[in-house]
Amino acid sequence: MIPSVHRKITQNALEKKFSPGVLNIIKKANTDSDLPKRDAFFSKPLHCVNCSIEETKVYIDELEKNVVNELIAASLSNYRDKKNNHFKIAAAYLGKLNHAVQDFYSHSNWIELIAPKKKIWKGKTINPYSNKNEQILMCTSKYFSELACFLLDLAYKKITGKKHINDIINLPVDQLSHFKLNKDNKNSLADIDYEKKYHESGFDLACKLAEYSTLLKWKNIEKIVKREMGTGGQQILDEFKTWSP
Ligand SMILES: [Zn+2]
Repeated sequence: MIPSVHRKITQNALEKKFSPGVLNIIKKANTDSDLPKRDAFFSKPLHCVNCSIEETKVYIDELEKNVVNELIAASLSNYRDKKNNHFKIAAAYLGKLNHAVQDFYSHSNWIELIAPKKKIWKGKTINPYSNKNEQILMCTSKYFSELACFLLDLAYKKITGKKHINDIINLPVDQLSHFKLNKDNKNSLADIDYEKKYHESGFDLACKLAEYSTLLKWKNIEKIVKREMGTGGQQILDEFKTWSP
């Protein structure tokens, strides 16, 4: 998804949960994930590239643990500056976590796989209907070959006035690329395909699920902090959520 979409999804999901200042750190860390820096832009699990569903799940779990640990550390801090620093880091981890959760829906074939079964996803990160073969079949080429593909396509359109080069070449299904799979915006190839097949926008559905999942992830972190810290957990959560950086 593009930064403005990530921002909107995060805002919708979490605006009632956090002070504007905390929400800003979360949103910034989320959209910074798309900056062309080595560690973020090229991270496969951070953007759930090539249907790396399992890798992304591990990555999300790790970030979730980091958020919890920072909040626990904040709770144990005696100095204001130290505590605020832990809050800042926790919010940044949460932003990254949200990015991966949100990209999961637009970059994987999750919604394509659940659509024919007409089942509603119920908060599981691993798609119960997918299997390795299907995942591999849906997406084999590399994420950043997409840029080349995209530029080639633009040039093709400009020169020939025709639609998509992929439509002309008619790539076999095992050659599907991120470019053909991403539902990053309305009218991406995958969005058009989805709409044709299921009469609803794949992009809209990905956004809806991403928003739901973003909130769910935060609620889960709250639950863990309370479980691990008892009444002190509720106190530090309240402090974190209302903090003004
Ligand atoms: Zn991304």
